[in-house]
Amino acid sequence: MSETKTTAPSTSAYRRETRLVHSGTLRSQYGETSDALFLTQGFVYESAEQCEARFTGDDPGFQYSRFSNPTVSAFEQRMAEFEGAETARATATGMAAVTAALLAPLRAGDHVVASKAMFGSCRYVVEDLLPRYGIESTLVDGLDLAQWEKALRPNTKTFFLESPTNPTLDVLDITEIAKIAHAGGARLVVDNVFATSLWQSPLELGADVVVYSATKHIDGQGRCLGGVVLSSTAFIEEHIQMYLRQTGPSLSPFNAWVLLKGLETLAIRVEKQTSNAAAVADALAGHPKIARLIYPGRDDHPQAATVKKQMRAGSTLVGLDVKGGKESAFRFLNALKLTLISNNLGDARSLVTHPATTTHQRLKPEVRAELGISEGFIRYSAGIEHQDDLIADLLAALEKA
Ligand SMILES: *Cc1c(COP(=O)(O)O)cnc(C)c1O
Repeated sequence: MSETKTTAPSTSAYRRETRLVHSGTLRSQYGETSDALFLTQGFVYESAEQCEARFTGDDPGFQYSRFSNPTVSAFEQRMAEFEGAETARATATGMAAVTAALLAPLRAGDHVVASKAMFGSCRYVVEDLLPRYGIESTLVDGLDLAQWEKALRPNTKTFFLESPTNPTLDVLDITEIAKIAHAGGARLVVDNVFATSLWQSPLELGADVVVYSATKHIDGQGRCLGGVVLSSTAFIEEHIQMYLRQTGPSLSPFNAWVLLKGLETLAIRVEKQTSNAAAVADALAGHPKIARLIYPGRDDHPQAATVKKQMRAGSTLVGLDVKGGKESAFRFLNALKLTLISNNLGDARSLVTHPATTTHQRLKPEVRAELGISEGFIRYSAGIEHQDDLIADLLAALEKA
């Protein structure tokens, strides 16, 4: 964090749950208990000489909140220590983090390989945006290691994947894909939104860069958007720092403060959401109205062995393929009383999404079919409510499907 100048003591000797509460805290002269909110655009200097020294970097300190801000720095440090990364840089949204991690290190003539099962906007960046600037991309079936290997070219610089994937919850083998990337001289960027850093540590598995939409489990209470890129200090300084500073997708200090408060409770929320998702999956598996249920924590998940190898727990998300296509899925969604229809995920409230008509609506029907996003497919994001209320709501609504 060379631009962020925090002096908060390291908490790396503590466990994840402890780091989530204490890392990055920089108390002001008032000794406040909670994190301070520095809602300021800029900073004032004692002299013109000090101002000059700030800009040359000889005097450590803040200059302008597009570059860095004390509250944003505290969030970055807490995220870095939670993830076990050397450095984190925050962004205004998850997509700003993904775009920075992919675009900033590349130039015309480079090549990217990505798993085709991913968040719709990530797919737009890889498939539509990068090629416009002369960066070619190849989409592969991320589960098939041979396809990653075959897609490698001498100019391949980046492999990109998310796991579990959105929305079908495929689990990709991060260790093996990192090995293929590194053997070909490429870096691996992992979008770890669906797993959270509580349950999966891509950097330990061999990835080089991790990105998050902080909008999801990190806020976890539906309030604000945010994103974060985590990697080695060398990668951030070489590729990300200047790009963010000069193009400006900065996180608001107010949102950084909300996200710091979100991190304090992330472990208890995600643990509860995961046990709720597991209970929902067990209650709905084999239901006569459901053609297919996917939950990374169950033994019948198609990549159960990979889940065991690389994740510390299942997920807060469940995939349900309701029999009878879109009409039946819509009847089910409209009959839910407690569970809310929303395209967000990772929230304290349980949410359901119909990907074919929302997050993945932009894709051609045959592409959706190839990804397993059928017309009856529903993504369920477990909240922190009582599991019996959630299961009762889902079972009652399924009667209407
Ligand atoms: C939501 C999401 C994003 C984008 O995050 P925003 O904060 O909405 O910009 C990226 N990747 C995945 C997997 C997501 O779920």
